[in-house]
Amino acid sequence: MTRYAIALGSNQGGRVDHLRQAVAELEGLGTIEAISGLYETEPVGGPAQDPFLNAVVLLDTDLAPAKLLATLQQIETANDRVRTVRWGPRTLDLDIVAVDDQVIDTPDLQVPHPRAAERLFVLQPLCDVWPEAMVGDGLTAAEALSAVSGQVADLVAADW
Ligand code: ATP
Ligand code: MG
Ligand code: MG
Repeated sequence: MTRYAIALGSNQGGRVDHLRQAVAELEGLGTIEAISGLYETEPVGGPAQDPFLNAVVLLDTDLAPAKLLATLQQIETANDRVRTVRWGPRTLDLDIVAVDDQVIDTPDLQVPHPRAAERLFVLQPLCDVWPEAMVGDGLTAAEALSAVSGQVADLVAADW
């Protein structure tokens, strides 16, 4: 079993419905150990766009990393994800942000996620469920969170 932290985000369509749908699909892939609070956040990077809802799910699964990534992309597609502009609006984004005890560095998948340590919208929910997660440069999620400034994440619901 491997523990993965999966970051969920949506700023198009029925945002919370897309996130709930994602959680329901993730339940079929292994054991969900924890679900963070639900946060509303300002977009970071990309064009001007609507606010996001973000959360992080801890999933224990036997799926290999590449298979998990492919499955996450299928769930995104099933939720009408369309890729046009980089960092543009999306119905659903599912990123693997951390994994226990290993680093993954392949052309299609890097974990810790290369931009996790600078994103409040990842770190705030990640710290709800796994503050010790390594997010790169030898930093834990809690350490990286304390270094981020100038971004906003408002707790919308602890349980959702
Ligand atoms: P960002 O990666 O900055 O959050 P994004 O989530 O909008 O941007 P996507 O369009 O969802 O980017 O994915 C682009 C590619 O990122 C995917 O095709 C995938 O191969 C690659 N990728 C690399 N590492 C990861 C990871 N840890 N989780 C998800 N995708 C990853
Ligand atoms: Mg992303
Ligand atoms: Mg993504």
